[in-house]
Amino acid sequence: MLDIDREHIWHPYTSLTVPLPVYLVKSAQGVYIELEDGRKLIDGMSSWWSAIHGYNHPVLNKALTDQLHKMSHIMFGGLTHEPAIEFTQKLLRITPEKLQKIFYCDSGSVAVEVAMKMALQYWYAKGNKQKNKFLTLRSGYHGDTWHAMSVCDPVTGMHSIFSDRLPEQVFIPSPRSKFDEPLCDEDKLNIKKAIADNKHSIAAVILEPVVQGAGGMKFYSPGYLKYVRQLCDENNILLIFDEIATGFGRTGKLFACEHSHTSPDIMCIGKAITGGYMSFAAMLATTEVAQTVCSGNPGVFMHGPTFMGNPLACSVANANIGLLENSQWQEKVLGMEMQLKNELFAAKNIEGVEDVRCLGAIGVVEMKQPVDMAKIQPLFVNEGVWIRPFGKLIYIMPPYIIEKDELSKLITAIIRVIKKIV
Ligand SMILES: *Cc1c(COP(=O)(O)O)cnc(C)c1O
Repeated sequence: MLDIDREHIWHPYTSLTVPLPVYLVKSAQGVYIELEDGRKLIDGMSSWWSAIHGYNHPVLNKALTDQLHKMSHIMFGGLTHEPAIEFTQKLLRITPEKLQKIFYCDSGSVAVEVAMKMALQYWYAKGNKQKNKFLTLRSGYHGDTWHAMSVCDPVTGMHSIFSDRLPEQVFIPSPRSKFDEPLCDEDKLNIKKAIADNKHSIAAVILEPVVQGAGGMKFYSPGYLKYVRQLCDENNILLIFDEIATGFGRTGKLFACEHSHTSPDIMCIGKAITGGYMSFAAMLATTEVAQTVCSGNPGVFMHGPTFMGNPLACSVANANIGLLENSQWQEKVLGMEMQLKNELFAAKNIEGVEDVRCLGAIGVVEMKQPVDMAKIQPLFVNEGVWIRPFGKLIYIMPPYIIEKDELSKLITAIIRVIKKIV
């Protein structure tokens, strides 16, 4: 089977001609991934931020199978259904109050496309067509589709390859003020100046609140969000928060923007939205944005994916929020943060380590040099853990259901493996 895989199937950001090895997974249960050869690995990745309650969860399974027996899908044009409506009610209860209008779509990248498109259509409806650029941060990540890619970090997003085809956006340095620091003047000046220079062409600021994920795993001062909100209000610019990685409790708040009580005009959510069960995402907008978009010509929002509001996805997403609300997720995540700080900070003194940082249920070791994936991946598997580094970053964001001793094993594995590779 692995031969067929190697011969024909792309894996993310991996060469098809000289692929790195992949491991065949038989099943996954709770916080364990079972390989075909019987080895069991503790999951440090939550399948990229998404499986927050672990795998094969009876409540999520039941939500899916119950819905499966009614209908797995039905078109959303001209039709609607209970799973979408029930999920919407739950979502409205936990997301920023001003965001009342929801667009369901297939994946995070599509939610970002939809958000950017909505911002452009907003200004179009207001007769302000010259507002067609986005301001964003270096080290950001917003997905791999075309316009999402245009607001990803130009270096890690490899903009040079696509330079004459990618829309050119306004980039500013990623904020330097750390999570627990007040906002420094340099951070304020950078964005203030970029906005002053481009305010007539900027439709929206788009950023990942507090935690920059795949573009660098950086945490920054929540005070930044308040400042950006104020600048956007003063300069007639929309504010888009990409909460696709940070949403659903990962940073210690349900949504990272709650660290500064700042509410955007448009918000994207995805990843953990279905507890890691299937691809699904949403874009939420204020009533003002939605009404403006629908006020001008053509009077509707020009988007409508085939699998919009998929009933299976809505059902499992609904059950996912139910599980979250009925769990002590906040205590759990804060407990994980304390344990990460207590145990992972020991890596700070190891040679080759640049920085160690933790926030909520996220632990990051930044190395001085990029790690050799071919070498490091088998070392982690031999330690009985699933950790997938990229570049200089070795990081974990385990399912919230992880037990203390299992988290210790993940952390110990990181420390042991780093000592072996440097
Ligand atoms: C993963 C991610 C995306 C893209 O989501 P996909 O479901 O992979 O398309 C967008 N923004 C952020 C912040 C992400 O972490």
